[in-house]
Amino acid sequence: MFQQFPFPAAHTIDLRAWEFITLCAANGIDARLVGGCVRDALLYGDPLSSSRRRGSRPLTSTDIDIAIKAHPPDVIAFCKTHRLKCIPTGIAHGTLTILFKGLVCEVTSLRADINTHGRHATVTFGASFEEDAARRDFTMNALFVDHQQILYDAFDGLSDLRSGHVRFIGDPALRIAEDYLRLYRYFRFWGRFGKGEADISVLPVLDTIKDALSQLSIERVQSELLKILILPWPGAVLKSMMHYGLLNYIFGEEIDCAAGIKALRRLATLERFSGHSPCAVRRLCALTQSQNISDIFKLSRMQKRKIGSLNKTITEPDYEIALTHPEWWVDSMLLKDALSTDHLWSCRARAKTLTSPPPFPLTGADVIARGPAGAQIGEVLTAVKRQWIASGFTLDRNACLACLKYKTLHHSLE
Ligand code: ATP
Ligand code: MG
Repeated sequence: MFQQFPFPAAHTIDLRAWEFITLCAANGIDARLVGGCVRDALLYGDPLSSSRRRGSRPLTSTDIDIAIKAHPPDVIAFCKTHRLKCIPTGIAHGTLTILFKGLVCEVTSLRADINTHGRHATVTFGASFEEDAARRDFTMNALFVDHQQILYDAFDGLSDLRSGHVRFIGDPALRIAEDYLRLYRYFRFWGRFGKGEADISVLPVLDTIKDALSQLSIERVQSELLKILILPWPGAVLKSMMHYGLLNYIFGEEIDCAAGIKALRRLATLERFSGHSPCAVRRLCALTQSQNISDIFKLSRMQKRKIGSLNKTITEPDYEIALTHPEWWVDSMLLKDALSTDHLWSCRARAKTLTSPPPFPLTGADVIARGPAGAQIGEVLTAVKRQWIASGFTLDRNACLACLKYKTLHHSLE
């Protein structure tokens, strides 16, 4: 049975979402907001909430999930009548993506999951809101709000949200066995909403589920892990994952997780105090400490190249990054300091002044105009570039031209 409360944070959810569920109600269809938009609005948008994070501004949520009391064909018919674009993104599970006045809404017919087996569930539609709540993962993710802004809470999700308790609906071991991705989601949501380290005592022993976990596609695991990595302060939750054995399970036994987490914590501090936003790839490099994870994760070519470049900075300063990918320069410098044993205060001071290098002020034409030809052009230009890099990119065009003059002369005398 649902407890009902007035919903105090309507203003933090896009107005068009309210319009959509009101339109549904006017047509006799009960549709309710659910999941992330409700949870986040309660946490960040409720002016009375004691758990509202300090300094956080309520943002207007546009990540809209809606639970609808209608079968998928009826929802499609409703969209046709109201000329709404409707894409059957996950029709087998009753999910339609509906575009309402430019707002993307993930609309899922009320359902109960039957025959769940690790990742895929056979579903049945026509469930009640209570049944639909019960198939969701955590109590804080099973909060619904209707068009009259009444909050429906079946499992004390509101108080769990306020106390930072990520709690499975039902027995954690059973819920994880239904869908093993929930193990990773548990840590991710704990990292976002939990207080302190995650409660791993509720989880099944890792060894007993390793085989089943290996059936999950690496893309899904990777996506959860990257989301964990870009949390403002992922240290505590990663420590819980380490204690549970999950980090070594993902990255292999060779990785020194404790050292990686320490580096990641330093990196997060440096980012915070220098105003650089978290970057998943940069943080992954800190966590894995130059371990080659290209074989483990499915990364894009660019991500692989970036990881390769950044990891080089651990063993030697990779000044070439400044020329080939100036935007990676800041990443590499932050990473280098995060992995160093230098005092954090001095690293923080350095991080504050870090900016991407300006473009190199000379071109090949400048060299040609001063005499060198053929292979000499590249050689002289490289020599000036190295001087420019060594100066910390402070040499301006005139200084580089003076350097070019010297190098050209020197070169011709050799
Ligand atoms: P986020 O801010 O990460 O998007 P979210 O809660 O909206 O958080 P989604 O992955 O978008 O998460 O899923 C929407 C809702 O669907 C969840 O809040 C939850 O109720 C339900 N859900 C999603 N994945 C699962 C799962 N694997 N098992 C059970 N319920 C799930
Ligand atoms: Mg969502």
